[in-house]
Amino acid sequence: MLPEHLARIRARLEAMREEIVREGDARVRVEREEAVAGSADEDQAPHEEMDQAIASSRNRTRAATLARIDAALRRLDADPDAFGTCADCDDEIPARRLELMPFARLCVDCQAKRDPARGGARKHVLDFKG
Ligand SMILES: [Zn+2]
Repeated sequence: MLPEHLARIRARLEAMREEIVREGDARVRVEREEAVAGSADEDQAPHEEMDQAIASSRNRTRAATLARIDAALRRLDADPDAFGTCADCDDEIPARRLELMPFARLCVDCQAKRDPARGGARKHVLDFKG
């Protein structure tokens, strides 16, 4: 991969990281406190119960994405030459995929094989809706 391409991916990873950290406040790091949280403001509690459930699942997603971004940045530092190749089949991960998901470790095919529920099949189901 070209150095300027790597630099662009690094910039993108860092921007994504910053955005997640900013959006999630400190909550991403204090995920363990989630179990005890939820008794904040009594007046707001009823209609925010759902929001909290959604927010906490979002926080988990954010924390997971953050971990993947950090791992990608580490890979980028440790072995820039290998960055952007699929961890399973060693093929190059297409630039477009890396642009959307700079932390991707697998090409689309291998990702679909490992994680069929999130692969193409489900998308088709959703497409047929309505
Ligand atoms: Zn692959």
